[in-house]
Amino acid sequence: MYSFEATLSFAQQEDGKDELSKFKQEFYFPQRNGKDAIYFCGNSLGLQPKTVEAAIAQELRDWQDCAVEGYWKAKNPWLFYQTSMRPVLAEIMGAKEMEISVMNTLTVNLHFMMLSFYRPTKTRYKVLMEAGAFPSDQYAVETQVRHHGFDPNTAIIEISPRPGEHLLRTEDILQIINEHNESIAVILLGGINYYTGQLYDIATITAAAHKVGAMAGFDLAHVAGNVPMELHKWNVDFAVWCSYKYLNGGPGAVGGAYVNEKHAADREYPRLGGWWGNEESTRFKMEKGFIPKAAAEGWQMSTAQVFNMVSLKASLELFKAAGIQKLKEKSVRLTNYLEFLLQQVKGINFEIITPKNCNERGAQLSLLFNEAGKEIHQQLTDAGIIVDWREPGVIRVAPTPMYNSYEDVFHFYEIIANIASKRLIK
Ligand SMILES: *Cc1c(COP(=O)(O)O)cnc(C)c1O
Repeated sequence: MYSFEATLSFAQQEDGKDELSKFKQEFYFPQRNGKDAIYFCGNSLGLQPKTVEAAIAQELRDWQDCAVEGYWKAKNPWLFYQTSMRPVLAEIMGAKEMEISVMNTLTVNLHFMMLSFYRPTKTRYKVLMEAGAFPSDQYAVETQVRHHGFDPNTAIIEISPRPGEHLLRTEDILQIINEHNESIAVILLGGINYYTGQLYDIATITAAAHKVGAMAGFDLAHVAGNVPMELHKWNVDFAVWCSYKYLNGGPGAVGGAYVNEKHAADREYPRLGGWWGNEESTRFKMEKGFIPKAAAEGWQMSTAQVFNMVSLKASLELFKAAGIQKLKEKSVRLTNYLEFLLQQVKGINFEIITPKNCNERGAQLSLLFNEAGKEIHQQLTDAGIIVDWREPGVIRVAPTPMYNSYEDVFHFYEIIANIASKRLIK
């Protein structure tokens, strides 16, 4: 049982004790009804840090003042712009710096990773993934499989929850891995399922993949900046993520990829190459012969897209200042508080489908409505709350520890309890 109270004074007391509470004022909140909205949509698009504008102005000024010399002479030299973000991301991902590459966008990175790690043979050609994976992942895998001349119907193995259940059981995932055994080329799962909020047991699944000789890759879109990872320790082969969700990198921000050291250090590892992935020492010699960096950055292609990276860089400074472990500690308590409060709501028929165990979830709770979900979503929106609706029946609520407070969570509860009591009277 939680030692929480459903009162404003309790929430305010928690905020008073929270050493991360000061980060809230580092962000701009969208305005609703003349005041800051209660923003629980950081799982979809993170808020703008107030430092971003100055960071963009800096790059504009360096471009004005230095022009081409900005690659070397800018305050943040553009040649190494992406590399400057590796230390914080390495910490967030539990990776070595050489295993991190800031580049492209998520789906593009997924294709490039699959190109290296999905090299099917006649007997080993299957990709294991979640049924109902995020559409972009589904399309990526479907087209990868077709690209290699296989039939998605036989080459893609989808894992579903048991009938009547919403979540995948690790034991079921392991059983399917054993069933398909040496026919599996790659296991590709979300780190956190975008719909249910379920965090998978990445260490166990990776070990099981390796046991049958398959590669283990993860889409960490809903993990990055939400739950700290230990990708290197878990021996994950590859991972990709976007930076505009919990990482607050702004719409369309540069994404990221992780390549395990054992592959990243291997210059012979198959890949598609471009000049930015080439060793810097020979990149500008303009000679024949691709010599990839012996690092995840050896998968880079093109000139750093500086303006796509500025906001992420500014945001990562805040992650560095707050500390990903501290954020995680707050996140567990904040989401537990939300769960506790939601359990007090009477009069609306909904179920929290996200796992109850805080080791099997991040910030997000998914509320499945058996009726009137869309209507309630609209009422929440009208009351100044920003949460999102995902078909067929879920409202996702993600209090993020970086900029949400216990008071935000309490006000959300007040509003949804008010909506519920009106429905009771009707
Ligand atoms: C958000 C999200 C994406 C988005 O991919 P982009 O290439 O950045 O548009 C992909 N997969 C998952 C699981 C996501 O949650």
